Amino acid sequence: MIEIITLGTACMQPTKDRNHVGTLLRYKNENILFDCGENIQRQLRHLNIKLTKITRIFISHWHGDHTLGLAGLMYSMASDQFAKKLFIYGPKGTKKNLAYLFKAFTNDTPIEHEVMEIDPKTKTVLDFAEFTIEVRPLDHRTPTLGYSFMEKDRLRIKPQYIKKIPGILLGKLQKNKTVTYKNKKITPQEAAYSIKGKKITILMDTRPCNNYLKLSQNADLLISEATFLHEHQEKAEKYYHMTAKEAGLLANQAEVKKLVLLHFSPRYKDISKFREEVKTVFQNVVCAEDFMKFKV
Ligand SMILES: [Zn+2]
Ligand SMILES: [Zn+2]
Repeated sequence: MIEIITLGTACMQPTKDRNHVGTLLRYKNENILFDCGENIQRQLRHLNIKLTKITRIFISHWHGDHTLGLAGLMYSMASDQFAKKLFIYGPKGTKKNLAYLFKAFTNDTPIEHEVMEIDPKTKTVLDFAEFTIEVRPLDHRTPTLGYSFMEKDRLRIKPQYIKKIPGILLGKLQKNKTVTYKNKKITPQEAAYSIKGKKITILMDTRPCNNYLKLSQNADLLISEATFLHEHQEKAEKYYHMTAKEAGLLANQAEVKKLVLLHFSPRYKDISKFREEVKTVFQNVVCAEDFMKFKV
């Protein structure tokens, strides 16, 4: 099971009810943070999630509403005796920008970390043991990356084989290996079936673009920015953001299962209008609040 928590849902300025953005994805031993706006560490404390549990941070782009919380979070992780290595991924310039942050304070790095700068011309795929992350550039005012978390397909043993074969051999079958039991060869094709991995796509600041569509294709869950309503289309174009309607149209085209909107402009007091607008083109939509949880 994959759990996604919206830690912040505001855009440029946080409001009384909405924090700067940050989305936590929890999967097995991984606690992956996508963006880290101001105050994200406190949002995690609200949920009693230990900061030292964070394993990786993916940065979409270096605008303050997506990154101002990084230094605070990392210094607090140091105070909490984080003893592992934090892996940070982001667009070109991430190494230099992080170094500037630490220089402004104590000039030393609070915790051990490794930064991977991604400069995808079209697509990059990061491969981990049980999932991959697909990265593509988006269309914003500064280099910006969109991310898709893709769980790898896995094999599940058919019930009739679970009863008759010893556990150690079942483990091998599950790893796609043929085994021999009572002088008989048993193949994974015969004893198991494949379960499709889930896909979660997280697309922060951007205009509608081809890579938005490619990254979100068939996603089980798409978390998308929607800063404006259609009535402010010209502002969305000017500031390189999305409208709710545009997000809905693309989610529909990409055959996404569920769309979650966030990064709302504070000009809108009634966020339900975002939902109404999307509903005309895409049904399964949620306008996120801070601390919403989604299980996929
Ligand atoms: Zn933003
Ligand atoms: Zn931005």
